[in-house]
Amino acid sequence: MSGSGSKSRTSNEVDAWLATGHRPFVVVISGPSGVGKSSFVKQLLAAGLNLEYSVSATTRPRRPHETEGRDYFFLDREEFRRRIQAGDFVEWAEVHGEQYGTLRSEIERRLKDGKNVLLDIDVQGGRAVRRVFKDGVFIFVLPPSLRSLEERLRGRATDSDQTIRLRLDNALREIKLVSEYDYAVVNDDLDSALDRVASIIVAESCSTSRRPSLVST
Ligand code: ADP
Ligand code: 5GP
Repeated sequence: MSGSGSKSRTSNEVDAWLATGHRPFVVVISGPSGVGKSSFVKQLLAAGLNLEYSVSATTRPRRPHETEGRDYFFLDREEFRRRIQAGDFVEWAEVHGEQYGTLRSEIERRLKDGKNVLLDIDVQGGRAVRRVFKDGVFIFVLPPSLRSLEERLRGRATDSDQTIRLRLDNALREIKLVSEYDYAVVNDDLDSALDRVASIIVAESCSTSRRPSLVST
């Protein structure tokens, strides 16, 4: 009796474990300005990867095609400072002369709902997020060449010449930090680069390290 009782309890526990699935995780995408991160983000979110976007706050002016609360929360410097003091950011950094920050609330509520969370942040932010979310997946997007990076920045036509120069100077420093990331993906052809990033996310979600241990059940 007690033998079959304990067997059925174990089966229930295994069934509960099977239903649990993997622990949700953060996916950080970094790379130089103009490499194609926003293009990736848009398509990854539509790819059925149980992935939701963490909308950052920034003091940078809104670009014409951007929407408040979808692309960024656009804050003035005073409000940004107030949010820093309130402890609302997991990390914040000065990037290309503007402030950008990852809101704690954007990540935590999604992980709690069982969603993986996608962040498009710079390398300073990537470092800080790894300290907090040690089991995150960190992907660096590389351009096929520096010339193509400049062409993409100019082709996007959203930044002044001075801003483009600043972003290109910063690109060199950022690319040198690629080895801090778990994966490097070259964005040559957008669709095939996206396939590679999606494959990384799928493989990571199958990792046994992202399931609760079965040994204790
Ligand atoms: P980021 O978010 O990294 O600054 P964007 O996604 O805004 O970069 O891309 C910069 C420009 O490059 C955009 O005009 C985008 O359409 C273009 N782009 C993105 N990926 C590719 C690619 N694989 N080949 C050519 N152009 C690309
Ligand atoms: P853009 O102005 O082109 O949207 O972004 C400029 C840079 O800021 C990109 O490298 C982008 O990844 C980074 N960025 C966007 N949001 C955040 C954030 O919340 N934190 C940090 N550290 N960087 C961010």
